[in-house]
Amino acid sequence: MKPIHLFVPKYRAEEALAEIRTCLETGWTGPGEKTAQFEAAWRAYTELPNAHFLNSATAGLHLAFAILRERHGWADGDEILTTPFTFVSTNHTIMHAGLRPVFADLDEYLCLDPVSVSTRITPRTRAVCFVGIGGNPGRYDEVLDLCAKHDLRLILDASHMAGTRIRGVHAGYGADAAIFSFHAVKNLPTADSGMVCFRDAALDQEARKWSWMGISKDTFTRTVGAGPYKWKYDVEHLGFKYHGNALMASLGLVALRYLDEDNAYRRQLAGWYDEELAGCPAVSRVPQREGVLNSRHLYQILVNERDEVVRKLNERGIYPGVHYADNTAYRMYRYAAGACPRAAAASARVISLPMHLGLSEDDVRRVAGELKCATGP
Ligand SMILES: *Cc1c(COP(=O)(O)O)cnc(C)c1O
Repeated sequence: MKPIHLFVPKYRAEEALAEIRTCLETGWTGPGEKTAQFEAAWRAYTELPNAHFLNSATAGLHLAFAILRERHGWADGDEILTTPFTFVSTNHTIMHAGLRPVFADLDEYLCLDPVSVSTRITPRTRAVCFVGIGGNPGRYDEVLDLCAKHDLRLILDASHMAGTRIRGVHAGYGADAAIFSFHAVKNLPTADSGMVCFRDAALDQEARKWSWMGISKDTFTRTVGAGPYKWKYDVEHLGFKYHGNALMASLGLVALRYLDEDNAYRRQLAGWYDEELAGCPAVSRVPQREGVLNSRHLYQILVNERDEVVRKLNERGIYPGVHYADNTAYRMYRYAAGACPRAAAASARVISLPMHLGLSEDDVRRVAGELKCATGP
């Protein structure tokens, strides 16, 4: 039987190659017209006011924490309330910016629970980092209100949320910075890249310097710009090599044309899983919010004896994933062990079922059937 994998990226090869060809023929593969075009397309699609294209979402998260820290004068060890139920880059980038991750617990959506967040605010809390797990916004709006009430900044790790709309509005509204991943396995696959969307245009301009060594003028402006001293630039502060390139932007421009269509198919796959698993008491499906057009990056369930269930599925050629292990169980975040019992419980029971555009209805029914056997008496 053919194996069924968790994620398989889908590229429109001919269209992507045509887009990349223009970069290769002109010899311009770095940041420039193509990256600017993709940034404009992303702003138009999301209606977020700013978008800066980067080589990953991790880079975007780091820039968001570092630049907000600089802007607001945060001190070493100031606290960011965050989730332990995420890919570690969310929390590593808080540390990279010299800040301290303080973990709050989850709600039934596996997103940050606003009640838990509110009980962990201290005089040193500066911001909340919210992750929309699997594309699900959870209680994002309540966390947004809480941040407004306590004068905290909000960083949204929207790595799973390309195409998620909440009451018709694309995810990212209200956040001081929203960060999207365009890694190969995410909903808008480019191989590897990401986008940081600051609410404040001045911070977007700042990010453009930080993403290239703190240099005041990008190479494109220097190459095509008019006037003397085109070679001349200033270096205003430390910076990183984080900007995106034209080849990734080419893949992004093509993938964006299909994002809504692809996400609609993901929702169809989720609908088939729902139908199959609705009457299955051994499988709890993670609930979805009303009024949300979910990007459906993941289809998550909770089961008992998770490792055993995964082993049985593997034996039947089905390879699901686990998103995520509770970060406080990792050695470096162990200082917070025990702080988030709901996250720890979810981490022991969660499975992400195969979710990608190469799956058919039959594939979904086969996965669900094997799952019922694996969890059954
Ligand atoms: C994938 C992912 C990231 C990192 O994205 P990259 O583009 O690979 O850097 C960050 N946070 C979450 C929740 C992710 O799933």
